Amino acid sequence: MKVITTPEEMQAISQQNKFEGKKIAVVPTMGFLHNGHLTLVKKAKEVADIVITTLFVNPKQFAPNEDFERYPRDFERDKKLLTESGCDYLFSPDISSIYPIDFATSISIGGVTKVFEGESRPTHFDGVALVVLKLFNITLADIGLFGQKDYQQTLVIKKLVKDLNLNIKLLITPTVREANGLAMSSRNRYLTDEEKNKASIIFLSLEEAKNAIAHGERRRKMINSVVISTLRSVPEIKIDYVATVKSENLELADEFLPGEEVVILIACFMNQTRLIDNTIIKIPTAFTENFIE
Ligand code: AMP
Repeated sequence: MKVITTPEEMQAISQQNKFEGKKIAVVPTMGFLHNGHLTLVKKAKEVADIVITTLFVNPKQFAPNEDFERYPRDFERDKKLLTESGCDYLFSPDISSIYPIDFATSISIGGVTKVFEGESRPTHFDGVALVVLKLFNITLADIGLFGQKDYQQTLVIKKLVKDLNLNIKLLITPTVREANGLAMSSRNRYLTDEEKNKASIIFLSLEEAKNAIAHGERRRKMINSVVISTLRSVPEIKIDYVATVKSENLELADEFLPGEEVVILIACFMNQTRLIDNTIIKIPTAFTENFIE
């Protein structure tokens, strides 16, 4: 695996690969890699000839009160893991090559960026969209891979690709979890072992909601209250939001219809650490409902 640090060199390499007729898959990350990231890299390897993993802790997606400075970093470990996963290029630019002193462009995506995660972190998705667009342009990506773990982010990137006519296919892969169900995240590094155990309630609360839906619950508020009451069994958890919405556009409905796909979104704090998770559920049709009963 080759490490590339400048946008110019990365773009030249990608151009050469394209010239040779190769398909390029790109996995954008902020590093401190875990199996969630590596699953994306392995998937990328299956669908393309060349895999580029980008490692860039993007200051523009952090608010001033957030953890940009202390975000976990371990370049040598990341490099080793990526080499073992069959990644071809690690693109790891420094901040000044991505945002030179005279950088003056911003992107603002409407709609899905404004609710839930966007309400709690108002500048976050504009920062994500900007860096992802730059990374796609630098790497000349044919395919971009993202994790379902950041569900709302996947909708933002889909919107970016559609609205700006990017010629890029997106692949979303399922959330990779610890044995106890906790979604893998670089930020889990901030948790003690005890906190990690207790944070598994987030996954359990999603499972409880899934169960309620399998047993016929269709009402949004009731589904949310199953999640909330399960989360409340752990006093260290403080809920930021719990929302059950249509998966396609994050729209609310009082009751969901058979066949409709919903996503349950959770953001909460385990003591000081903010964690997010989600699950996608298809509301059973009348036939499968009878079958379950
Ligand atoms: P990050 O480094 O946190 O910005 O994540 C980089 C990519 O990895 C994003 O597309 C994330 O959605 C994805 N990702 C992070 N955690 C997981 C996970 N547990 N399972 C699957 N994908 C993940």
